[in-house]
Amino acid sequence: MAEQRARPQDSTLAAICEKVLAGERLSHADGVALFRTRDIFTLGELANIVRERRHGRRAYYNVNRHINYTNFCVLRCKFCSFYRSTDGRSGPTEVSNGPGYLYSLDEIVRIAREAADQGATEVHIVGGLHPTLPFSFYTDMCRAIRERCPGLHIKAFTAIEIVHFTRVSRPRLSIEEVLIALRDAGLDSLPGGGAEIFDPRVHAEAFKAKVGEKHWFDVHRAAHDLGIPSNATMLYGHVESVEERVTHLLKLRAHQDQSLAKCDDATKPHSDEGRTAVTSVAPSLGRSVAAFQCCIPLSFIPEGSALEQLPGPTGLDDLRTLAIARLMLDNVPHVKAFWIMQTPKLAQVSLNWGVDDFDGTVVWYDITKREGRGTNRQELSVEQICWLIREAGCEPVERDTFYRPVRRPARQLVPV
Ligand code: SF4
Repeated sequence: MAEQRARPQDSTLAAICEKVLAGERLSHADGVALFRTRDIFTLGELANIVRERRHGRRAYYNVNRHINYTNFCVLRCKFCSFYRSTDGRSGPTEVSNGPGYLYSLDEIVRIAREAADQGATEVHIVGGLHPTLPFSFYTDMCRAIRERCPGLHIKAFTAIEIVHFTRVSRPRLSIEEVLIALRDAGLDSLPGGGAEIFDPRVHAEAFKAKVGEKHWFDVHRAAHDLGIPSNATMLYGHVESVEERVTHLLKLRAHQDQSLAKCDDATKPHSDEGRTAVTSVAPSLGRSVAAFQCCIPLSFIPEGSALEQLPGPTGLDDLRTLAIARLMLDNVPHVKAFWIMQTPKLAQVSLNWGVDDFDGTVVWYDITKREGRGTNRQELSVEQICWLIREAGCEPVERDTFYRPVRRPARQLVPV
């Protein structure tokens, strides 16, 4: 058993090891100590113990398609290399940024239909905060995808986009009303983007104009109360400290405690394969409630951003952060390495450092590129993902958005 092997070289980790082995919750000081320790093997081993308790050797992936419908944005977050302004000025640097674009509804539906035809179970749709699109554009988008691709899960719109929609809707809608309208049009779940780092200093320094922690949690609280599951992210490796990273994770954990408290105990998210869908009926509310399904620590990519003088996270920092997310978030079922940002090679290693989710095939992704300029085609085939997972000693499990196993007849996937 892996649990019998944790023998820290760093004596300051002894108490943390005992807590992890006993299944006790870690404190802020524990999280900081894990970031400070040089005993990285104990850290990785502890994270793997927790991962194996929940998921055994299973490693999840999905067949998905990202759609970034526009890169026009009214904001200019310093860490972002994706946005283009509509006043003709380019993004933060002239080097790696292509022109602005906006997909038509027809184009978005065509991509979704193509993805469904090729075996995708989910579309992941996010974009910039477009200055002139009406709210109906987004409800029409969901409705059209739902009509043309009835079986495709629509995971769409970060909390920041949801707040933006409240501002462009006429008459102006509340967060809850926006979510209800989107859900009624076909939205199934929310992604976790836009959280960045929940800290006023970091907010002021790196993304001042963007809505902060309060709004982000308001959106996810409203979504969970409406029975709309969501994910949570942390963008790390820019101007934040490790103490601020731990604080961010603890705020996610506290929010998850609140969401889970509203769920029926019998259907809380847990580790069993196929039973991590987190909606249930809370009799006290008389409606469905939901919670975070997954935490995705996102590795900052400096190139092309206004912070490109920064080095960005190292590989060890990536592994450390993924492992600590697993250890601190004792109430979130899954931790994902988004291979687009951590690279496929590091995501593979992370499967033994607390990560159980490799993300999916992705295919197109505009928001960040490890390679800087060039194509936005960023794809791993199912065969490549499974090979990476197996080589890491894990069992690949294709999942749907709720982490239920997907059973396919042989050769159902169409190569793209
Ligand atoms: S991070 Fe999002 S909100 Fe900020 S500038 Fe980029 S696209 Fe706009």
